[in-house]
Amino acid sequence: MPELASRLHQLQCRISGATAPAAGRSRLLAVSKTRGIEEIAALAALGQLAFGENYVQEALPKIAACAADPGLPGLEWHLIGRLQSNKAREAAHAFDWVQTVDRAKLADALSRHRDPARPALNVLIQVNVDGEPGKGGCEPHEVPALATHVAALPRLALRGLMAIPAPVPDPSTRRAAFRSLAALQTRLAATHPGLDTLSMGMSDDFELALAEGATLVRIGTALFGPRPPKPKQAATTTESA
Ligand SMILES: *Cc1c(COP(=O)(O)O)cnc(C)c1O
Repeated sequence: MPELASRLHQLQCRISGATAPAAGRSRLLAVSKTRGIEEIAALAALGQLAFGENYVQEALPKIAACAADPGLPGLEWHLIGRLQSNKAREAAHAFDWVQTVDRAKLADALSRHRDPARPALNVLIQVNVDGEPGKGGCEPHEVPALATHVAALPRLALRGLMAIPAPVPDPSTRRAAFRSLAALQTRLAATHPGLDTLSMGMSDDFELALAEGATLVRIGTALFGPRPPKPKQAATTTESA
């Protein structure tokens, strides 16, 4: 897949060019929702080993198929979609990172179900940084207490914060949202010195996010090309009695 190789290379160049000096080296998370094993394997062969998935149900068979393929190196799987507590057991088994922890009860369930024989599950706290109603993530003022709670759980490793700011057209508004997440992380690091990951920025705005200190950008479309439309989801969210 030559287009995949050239898009990956271009993204890597843009990421290293836009990374803020203080962020050190920023990483690319390849968002592989709706994508098949062939594309994931092609990226893995190019050295891209970190993948993000939105839905536990969609991810489980992909993660299992990749793990069972002797031709593939070990991959790092991140859950970046909303997680219901009743799926916490499956998520704690299948993923290496959960980026969408936004409440204590969910953190408790993830820690309880994480296999003690494996490394601790890496966790980011998702913050609803622009106060968009109905969106996942805790409120900014809830972050310190939730961070203290997560950090005390035995099977979780708190690594930082994640946000999905509203895709407003005005770049300075988006940039302000990234900046406020970065400021929150800086304040939190005073009491949690191990934090090293700030997950923000997608295909349309990752350079703005990197300029504000992102260390992990989550990119789907700019790497794989446009996603096929999802009629099922559109129907369930718009049709109500
Ligand atoms: C789909 C998704 C992405 C990637 O979006 P693109 O615009 O395709 O890069 C990043 N983060 C989250 C949480 C997503 O759901």
